[in-house]
Amino acid sequence: QAQSERESLLIALGFARDFFVKNLQTEEGKSIGLSYFKERGFGPAIIEKFDLGYALNGWDHLLNAAKKAGFTEDILLKAGLILQKEGDPDRKYDRFRNRVTFTIHNISGKPIGFGARILTKDKNQPKYINSPETAVYHKSDVLYGMYQAKKAIRDQDNCYLVEGYTDVISLHLSGIENVVASSGTSLTDGQIKLIKRFTNQVTVLYDGDSAGIKASLRGIDLLLEGGLNVKAVVFPEGEDPDSYSRKVGSKAFQEYLNSQSQDFIGFKIGLYQDEIKRDPIRKAEVIREVVQSIGKIPDPIVRSVYAKEASGLLDIEEEIVHAELNKGLLKSQ
Ligand code: ATP
Ligand code: MN
Ligand code: MN
Ligand code: MN
Repeated sequence: QAQSERESLLIALGFARDFFVKNLQTEEGKSIGLSYFKERGFGPAIIEKFDLGYALNGWDHLLNAAKKAGFTEDILLKAGLILQKEGDPDRKYDRFRNRVTFTIHNISGKPIGFGARILTKDKNQPKYINSPETAVYHKSDVLYGMYQAKKAIRDQDNCYLVEGYTDVISLHLSGIENVVASSGTSLTDGQIKLIKRFTNQVTVLYDGDSAGIKASLRGIDLLLEGGLNVKAVVFPEGEDPDSYSRKVGSKAFQEYLNSQSQDFIGFKIGLYQDEIKRDPIRKAEVIREVVQSIGKIPDPIVRSVYAKEASGLLDIEEEIVHAELNKGLLKSQ
């Protein structure tokens, strides 16, 4: 019976996952890949749970092994595992080389792509190389870690949202399994729908730098628009969930999340707290910012609950919040 192309891609990607995982046990893999993971606190159990692996240093280790196993170059290309040499399309080479690998799974646990991290501090190469969009990897419908997280998200009725692969993994090591990563890109409708299959509550845990805060603000509005309840936690400057959890330990980290989680209004006000106190014009801008986010909420009852909270926290009359909200709602019609 003829295999569909999608099935062939999935089988090739499964082969690549097995190959990268096995590479970790070679001499090269042990001395470079395993020791890298060990330094980050990732031991055998978490390596197995997340199918972490190692892409050997060389142009065609995977290509040769896969061809030997019967995979065609065409399938390997379509799976995003190999590349064509520019100017010489007959020459193919491995996309992932000399990097540790993070397997990206679909919701039923099948490998659909990879992220691969550089092992040095070389600034001339990208820190991560990721699989391209393929017939089985639609990036806008995938969140890293969802396969490992889905049960916990349903049980906890909350989904932590982080930026990176290593944030997901470190949270698991801290005993927090209801976590997925947006992998450094803006959230999509497909990803929001995916979360909504399991919960209506998202807690955003983006990096404690200006890029992370900007991404949080954007993500919060998209999540609110999607009808989700949104909380957020701010990390100290320069820390991300991975670095911070390792710095303070699991228990203190969990306490930090619990004590620092605030709804989107508290989050926004917190960002500008000092300026608000000093500068009334700035305060007016923050009010407009907060109202703008409230206006994204599709449910009018939820909207009015937040309008009331905003009026209390910002010390302005509720009618003014409502008037401003109505202006926005009229504009968007
Ligand atoms: P690490 O802790 O290993 O340094 P990180 O996850 O903290 O990684 P960030 O720079 O915070 O790295 O980026 C967040 C996420 O964005 C990464 O996990 C990865 O998915 C994606 N990303 C980062 N750099 C790149 C890049 N150069 N190309 C593509 N994706 C990237
Ligand atoms: Mn970052
Ligand atoms: Mn980070
Ligand atoms: Mn990091």
